[in-house]
Amino acid sequence: MDMFNLEGKIAIVTGARTGIGQGIAEGLAEAGADIIGAGHAPMPETEAYISGLGRKFRYYDIDLVKQDGIQGLVDYAVREFGRIDILVNNAGIIRRQEVLEFSESDWDDVISMNLKSLFFLSQACARVMKSQGHGKIINIASMLSFQGGIRVVSYTASKSGVAGITKLMANELAKCNIQVNAIAPGYIATNNTAALISDEKRSAEILGRIPAGRWGTPQDLKGAAVFLASKASDYVNGHILAVDGGWLAR
Ligand code: NAP
Repeated sequence: MDMFNLEGKIAIVTGARTGIGQGIAEGLAEAGADIIGAGHAPMPETEAYISGLGRKFRYYDIDLVKQDGIQGLVDYAVREFGRIDILVNNAGIIRRQEVLEFSESDWDDVISMNLKSLFFLSQACARVMKSQGHGKIINIASMLSFQGGIRVVSYTASKSGVAGITKLMANELAKCNIQVNAIAPGYIATNNTAALISDEKRSAEILGRIPAGRWGTPQDLKGAAVFLASKASDYVNGHILAVDGGWLAR
């Protein structure tokens, strides 16, 4: 199992306070990594869990709807730990409204965070990864990287874009020994999907389509994240790994 071992690795995980980002940060730490949790509110639960494993955890305060803090985060990681082995671009937002009513601010905020910050943080980390001779970038995509969805037009645009730039970055960065891949979670019970879960009709429709017969949990993402962060995936480039209980296969 040594090829999955992340001991001594430094990972930045954006949005590690709750949900999928918390699950992934905890999973990477279980495999041995030290974690910088980047987000706009402290992450005491994540910190307590990771410290309890004997791994280091640092919180870095950043608003990822904007791009002006990105270089500061990367500089902090290098100053604190000397390198960045793994970046998980997890932080993401969603806005729900019909196409005919969708506002420009709901378009701009989602695209700015889910797509623009994801790219510019990846670019800044990739510069460090290139100089150190290795790196792993894991983007969090979505079922809406493949499908249209309903009432979430800027989110679908952003996640379809994430799938595209994952492949583009993988193409350009493979020669630097940087692997860029994505995880496409299915329907996972988190704050992001709370509105769907509380809508009884939509919730039942969604559940009825999941072959696994249950919603996913943030813990379900740990294995895919550890794989894509580890040596086990050194020849995997530009792949979008669905962790969806079979949703796309249906
Ligand atoms: P979540 O619990 O709402 O997580 C979103 C994370 O992003 C939180 O940690 C949040 O921090 C952080 N965040 C929000 N606004 C931010 C900002 N301005 N600056 C920095 N960080 C910010 O929902 P989630 O479901 O785990 O979502 C995580 C990722 O998975 C997202 O990219 C989402 O699109 C994707 N995803 C989710 C599902 C699903 O079914 N849940 C499916 C496919 C993809 P706070 O909690 O402090 O606000």
